[in-house]
Amino acid sequence: MKKENRFDNSQNLYDRAAEVIPGGIYGSKSPGFTVPGRFPYYFTEASGCRVKDADGNEYIDYLCGFGSMILGFGNPVVDDPAIAQLRKGDLLNQPGPSMVELAEKLTGLIDVMDWSVFTKNGTDATTLGISLARVKTGKPYILMARGAYHGSANWCSSNNYPVLRDKDEIRTFTYGNVVELEELFIELKGQIAAVILTPYHHATWADQVMPPIGWHDAVRRLCDSEGAYFIMDDIRANFRLSINGSHRVVGASPDMVTMGKSLANGYPIGVLMGTDEMRKTASGFFITGTFWTSTVPYLAALACLAEMEKLDVVSHVNTMGKLLKEGLISAGAEAGYDINCTGPDAIPFMTFADDPDLWHNQEFSARMAAKGVYLHPHHNWFLSYAHQEADIDETLEKAREAFKEVRVALGDQDKGPVL
Ligand code: PMP
Repeated sequence: MKKENRFDNSQNLYDRAAEVIPGGIYGSKSPGFTVPGRFPYYFTEASGCRVKDADGNEYIDYLCGFGSMILGFGNPVVDDPAIAQLRKGDLLNQPGPSMVELAEKLTGLIDVMDWSVFTKNGTDATTLGISLARVKTGKPYILMARGAYHGSANWCSSNNYPVLRDKDEIRTFTYGNVVELEELFIELKGQIAAVILTPYHHATWADQVMPPIGWHDAVRRLCDSEGAYFIMDDIRANFRLSINGSHRVVGASPDMVTMGKSLANGYPIGVLMGTDEMRKTASGFFITGTFWTSTVPYLAALACLAEMEKLDVVSHVNTMGKLLKEGLISAGAEAGYDINCTGPDAIPFMTFADDPDLWHNQEFSARMAAKGVYLHPHHNWFLSYAHQEADIDETLEKAREAFKEVRVALGDQDKGPVL
């Protein structure tokens, strides 16, 4: 049997980090978010769909920089113009011409939107979107789906400290439940600024939920009835469902759209897009950041968009994802497991049936990490243009072994404690 990966250097680095960085590694990269002690914590390099950790282990990767690397790591079509500009200058006091070109490009692609405001990350884009909705309507309440992720700002993150007060006027509802949403609109009549929604519900620690028929129409109807804004947070799904915005695929008609992640194949840039109706409010709102006009990410985004249009990335990533999903379901069945694969094919997530604490997922993904496949036990996965059938085959070969090992390790137990 091939030697299994060890994570000694990762562990040593983490021990050092714990002394000088609160929590060692924060947020969704923290050891507790995967499987403590059985996953790599630090990566050193990546190419295509393969990443390398601080112990020198190589993995077929299914996180793609949490979705950003849609063309694969180190793609020269994006990196070459970005590096050339980096040598000429990145942060140049004033924006470069590429900022204008990118805004023009995006309003062409996302054709229901008329303008773009660029940020460094997704959180700033969603926060700006809800702020503009509040300013324009003069109303305070923002409605979002329970368990949805719109960023790490206090209004939408899991930080729940009453003293921060940022959540005072945020209310949640069950994704896809029209009755619950209607009840909130009745209760908060005259006070709702916006509903913010992802194109489908990419819940963490749970199966993904596609929008029920009529859901987006109901959201539109309710927003119209109150003069509230409908913000589509397309930061995670963008460009894996459509080059023209995921709202098209799920039949939604938003007033504002946020994007980020795969927009520039890993370079830091996010965007809030809106319609003419909101243009004046956006123009008068103070928006800036020292690094927000750095030139390199704009060039990277232009190159990434051009390549995505040229290559039909959407169909490739969905084809690869479908092969992966189908293969996992049958590999699981060979070991006697009923496997759920949910979410769009290009952004899948796998769970074991009757495993609500994802204990089996944790065991499975830890065993896959030991064999050189980087999956996540609690967060959806991503496919990239760099994934080829041979990578999927190699993944499935390892998955067959891993499923059998999970059966031996956990026996017939259905669920267990959260690690
Ligand atoms: N919205 C969604 C749907 C996301 O998935 C994310 C990031 N996971 C964000 C917003 C926040 O983006 P960022 O991490 O770039 O701030």
